[in-house]
Amino acid sequence: MVHEELLLRLNDREYKNWLKAGRCLLILKNGLHPFINQHMRAFHGDLLNHNTVLRRPCRSSCRPRGNKLSGACVECTEWKEVILKHHRQRDVTVNWDNCVPPSWRTDHWEVAKAYMPRGQGKVKGADQFDASALLNLINYCDCFKLVDPKCVREVIRHRNELMHSCEMHMKDEWMKHYQIALKHFVQQFSHVPQMATAGQEIDEMLALNLSIYFPGLDRPDSAYTVALACDCVPHWVTSPDLISQWEAELLQERLQELLYAADDDAKTQDTEQLKRVAGFLQANRDLGERFSAELQVINSLETRK
Ligand SMILES: [Zn+2]
Repeated sequence: MVHEELLLRLNDREYKNWLKAGRCLLILKNGLHPFINQHMRAFHGDLLNHNTVLRRPCRSSCRPRGNKLSGACVECTEWKEVILKHHRQRDVTVNWDNCVPPSWRTDHWEVAKAYMPRGQGKVKGADQFDASALLNLINYCDCFKLVDPKCVREVIRHRNELMHSCEMHMKDEWMKHYQIALKHFVQQFSHVPQMATAGQEIDEMLALNLSIYFPGLDRPDSAYTVALACDCVPHWVTSPDLISQWEAELLQERLQELLYAADDDAKTQDTEQLKRVAGFLQANRDLGERFSAELQVINSLETRK
């Protein structure tokens, strides 16, 4: 398989930094997920044990309207109050439209969604939440009060800078601060084996060179090889195909977020960023093809204005 364009993109150190930093968020998410699942389940069970109203099913198929949940049944109103009571930050907007209130009684992830950023309503399956969703949950739900909020917010801040970087380029200096923020955060979970593994994988990812080179014309069958210039080559890095897949996943996340914002209440800044990402995808033939459906949506948004 030919990867000329990927090859060119990976010649750019700061783009490579962007890619590696994004990959770290995915590693973090995978490490956090089992712990959060277990912790939220216990928290949910606790809520049910201490409050008989919460154990009764919703009686009128309550649904949030926009971002508001008003006129809900007694049971859902009780859930709403309990969720607010366990919010670590009182003045923040709760995204009720993330939730299906009748499921609060039976699904701990449905309760978790109330502490997440907007746009989680469509998420199907607990393992589909991204790093931002999990980090915000830890930041806002007081069942995670043992985690130092400063460490969480530092990672959230870096995550936002990364995902909102118009050029998708990160400087070496930024990467250093990012690594420190991740390290401090991971240290908060020293008792979680999956997080210890994630910490190790993050270090390995940040040490990777991720360069692709031509092995030479004498071996035309081998196409390109990924050079992994570090002492600790992880076994799970194998091919340009894999790097290409990471890149696509990260771009997908970025696009989803921007398209959601554009659909909701397009700010000039979001529209501008969407245009830039679209320009970048179009300038790279391989990405333009891969994201042709998304590019069509972006174009239709442009003509709608
Ligand atoms: Zn209800």
